[in-house]
Amino acid sequence: MSTVSSTIRQERVRHDFALREMTVTAWRDLTPRIRRVTLAGPMEGFTSLGPGDHVKVFFPNPSTGVLNAPRLVDGRLERPAGEVIARDYTPLVNADGALELDVVIHGDAGPASAWATNVSEGAQIVVAGPRGSKLPPEGADWYVLAGDETALPAISRWLRLLPEDADVTVLAEVQDADDEAYLGALDSPHQVTYLHRGSAEPGTTTLIADAVRALPSKDGAGFWWLAGEAQSLVPARRYLRRELGLDQAAVDCSGYWKRGTPEHDHHAPVDPSDP
Ligand SMILES: Cc1cc2nc3c(=O)[nH]c(=O)nc-3n(C[C@H](O)[C@H](O)[C@H](O)COP(=O)(O)OP(=O)(O)OC[C@H]3O[C@@H](n4cnc5c(N)ncnc54)[C@H](O)[C@@H]3O)c2cc1C
Repeated sequence: MSTVSSTIRQERVRHDFALREMTVTAWRDLTPRIRRVTLAGPMEGFTSLGPGDHVKVFFPNPSTGVLNAPRLVDGRLERPAGEVIARDYTPLVNADGALELDVVIHGDAGPASAWATNVSEGAQIVVAGPRGSKLPPEGADWYVLAGDETALPAISRWLRLLPEDADVTVLAEVQDADDEAYLGALDSPHQVTYLHRGSAEPGTTTLIADAVRALPSKDGAGFWWLAGEAQSLVPARRYLRRELGLDQAAVDCSGYWKRGTPEHDHHAPVDPSDP
């Protein structure tokens, strides 16, 4: 793939800050590892225009069940005392206008995963944001979207947003064929290449980096969106930025989680040697 000097522009839009107290109305498993949780609550003013948008979700403490979250009082943010448990998720809005979160179940080590594992109707969480949206880029002739299971909700948003005739390559790292049901349900015209991790632990493979490197060269301006385990994305990002010399506007690479690090901050540079 080529494109050294990028003609790509991505507009950012800010949204009014909002906190929403939400109640679980339903949940179902989309794959053996991804659980969709449907929420009821105030959705007035909810705006999410970018496929990679995220909300900050405040969860109850798994041991005590206490939900400690900020509140808006007379327009002012009041932070609670005590431990606050918050994680980032991709907001999805269903046909009825209800907010849905597709949560990767990865065991009890993480409070968000533990919450989703044991979720029941009536459970409560608080959702903040999105604070802003990065709109789909202008000026791209083709797109590569790559990521692991945590990126699939955002990839589903990309596939719904991009025109049916857009030139899109999707590389999805999943455990096995069971996970293919997630994007399969979209009935998208865009073909997805699945990279099966098999028995390897999530975040330990070079599948995405290898697949990115193996893509054939293409003319025109390409836009690369990559998300997933932070360290496993480093070689892919280095290849794109250093070897191919692509500029920042053409490569949007985000560490959605980091192996061994609870509550990874996705604002941290994916490649600390090249922030
Ligand atoms: C912008 C953005 C959007 C995101 N959207 C989604 C989304 O729609 N759906 C989704 O499921 N996730 C999404 N994530 C990732 C999610 O925020 C992280 O996986 C988060 O760490 C989960 O919190 P936790 O409480 O389960 O685990 P944490 O308490 O954060 O971590 C506990 C342990 O679990 C490990 N861990 C965390 N996530 C995983 C995982 N997926 N697989 C294996 N081990 C893991 C950590 O390395 C750590 O060792 C998104 C992240 C960002 C930044």
